[in-house]
Amino acid sequence: MSNDKKNPAAAAPALPSNFLRAIIENDLAAGTHTREGLPNVITRFPPEPNGYLHVGHAKSICLNFGLARDYNGRCHLRFDDTNPEKEEQEYVDTIIDSVKWLGFDWNWQGPNGNEVHLHHASDYFDQLYEMAEYLINQGYAYVDSQSAEEMAANRGNFNTPGVNSPFRNRPREESLQMFRDMKAGKYKDGEHILRAKISEDAMSSPNMNMRDPAIYRIRHEHHVRTGNAWCIYPMYDYTHPISDALENITHSICTLEFQDHRPFYDWLLETLSKGGFFKLPVPKQYEFSRLNLTYVITSKRKLRQLVEDGVVTGWDDPRMPTIVGLRRRGYTPESIQLFAERIGVTKSDGWIDMSTLEGCVREDLDPKAPRATAVLRPLKLIVENFPADASEPCSCPVHPHHPEMGTRQFNFTRELWIEADDFMETPTKGYFRYTPPVGDQPGSRVRLRHGFVTECTGYDKDENGNVTAVRVKYFEDSKSGTPGSDNYKVKGNIHWVSAADALEAEVRLYDRLFTDPQPDAGGKDFMAALNPNALETVTAYLEPGMKNAVGDQRYQFERHGYFVADRVDSQPGKPVFNRIVTLKDSFAAK
Ligand code: ATP
Ligand code: MG
Repeated sequence: MSNDKKNPAAAAPALPSNFLRAIIENDLAAGTHTREGLPNVITRFPPEPNGYLHVGHAKSICLNFGLARDYNGRCHLRFDDTNPEKEEQEYVDTIIDSVKWLGFDWNWQGPNGNEVHLHHASDYFDQLYEMAEYLINQGYAYVDSQSAEEMAANRGNFNTPGVNSPFRNRPREESLQMFRDMKAGKYKDGEHILRAKISEDAMSSPNMNMRDPAIYRIRHEHHVRTGNAWCIYPMYDYTHPISDALENITHSICTLEFQDHRPFYDWLLETLSKGGFFKLPVPKQYEFSRLNLTYVITSKRKLRQLVEDGVVTGWDDPRMPTIVGLRRRGYTPESIQLFAERIGVTKSDGWIDMSTLEGCVREDLDPKAPRATAVLRPLKLIVENFPADASEPCSCPVHPHHPEMGTRQFNFTRELWIEADDFMETPTKGYFRYTPPVGDQPGSRVRLRHGFVTECTGYDKDENGNVTAVRVKYFEDSKSGTPGSDNYKVKGNIHWVSAADALEAEVRLYDRLFTDPQPDAGGKDFMAALNPNALETVTAYLEPGMKNAVGDQRYQFERHGYFVADRVDSQPGKPVFNRIVTLKDSFAAK
């Protein structure tokens, strides 16, 4: 019997299957997009440069660039820069940076060498304008002179058909002249607008997006790239399909809220095709469900509010679900790509648990992150029978499964730092770390990892009853890795650093930004769900070698989790660390 029959998973294709891959594979088989000098799959990621990218955008980036990579195609980065009031160069720069950091680029090796597919909708302003004149000439667009209020009232709603504008039958020549005058700056913002006329009865279409959608509006605004060349700007629903077609996109992939825009997308491209504006076939739009991630908000507007209200320190605050925030927090590009793959793409709305993203970064870092020791909540340990001026060199592997990564060196001394919760004055059941002697019962025995076995002999307290030091004796013949050291059988095994040469460092313990798994669902006030404990800053003691850590270096702090040297605040010799994620999913238990 074949192995595949027994184990169907063994026969599964290497690539995760999803409905978009199925569509692409059908198109490849049918030769739908076979065109001279062009790859068969061309996708694009079309951000509006009005904010920072977030984890939802990361899903779309990994999807679009990933499909292009997997099918030998190309993916364009295109700025949808048609809204001059809200767009800034700062956003363009960070978006470019974020997409590159995630591991993608927009170069394509074509028959004539390298092509760079970084585009802007504003590159097409001349063509977009020319096509608008074409639509007017064909009777498919007219200049409307209603006020914004009149237009809104006449648009109707889901239950009521719209009402035709009194300007709907304006002669083509008149619309054309007025549109040219709009372009020439003869009118004020909002005085006139260019609208599509899809059909005679379009204003009663059940799809609101088909009711004479606006395609050009007057905006006397400076544009980041075109300066003051234009005072009319094309609308998104008009610009987007045309940009796709001009770039020869094959599969235009977007989120589900654009489903109702698809009939206009198709109508516009079909209508303009008749004017010979595009290479055929024109692109097709496909929708997938957006990422909703628990304990996270993915709306640029709401993220901006967090920044502007000072709830976080900036767009790159490690608590932010922005790509710059995830990066500063210590997430790797690989972990985000893994996450995008794991959650897949579907057409049904749902919520992905934050623990899925956290699991991906653990999975990525476990095999590669060097190990290190950090005491986050220090308590002094005094080894009473170890001389004050002596030190005993100890070492251990940088990574337990990768001997090639070398060893770490540190000293055992009389005074050490241990975690405060590695001592209990009155132990609970099953507690195996330090507990003091009681009556004729000796104190507990604990191995100081990579060092010696010790036995608790007592502890010190201050006038307020706080434990200030734990006292132990060590067993000279118990050093880890020496013959006979395993004669000592102890249940407790803890980490420590030498107080004499520990590196004092600021460590930021991050938690989720919200306490509610769906902080803004159903119109809830997400500001009311902020987690007051999303950031705790501690002064920790680290093994001395950590002074060489530089920004963006990631470690596993044994028993604590994964940490990164903060890329902004770390100084040479003085790193600051961010907790990326704890070792295990502890959130559920809280
Ligand atoms: P926001 O609503 O936060 O302003 P947006 O969708 O308007 O975001 P764009 O810059 O227009 O932001 O988005 C670029 C691309 O990213 C679009 O194709 C959009 O569909 C996709 N996208 C945005 N949010 C998500 C999400 N949560 N999950 C998946 N894709 C997303
Ligand atoms: Mg958008």
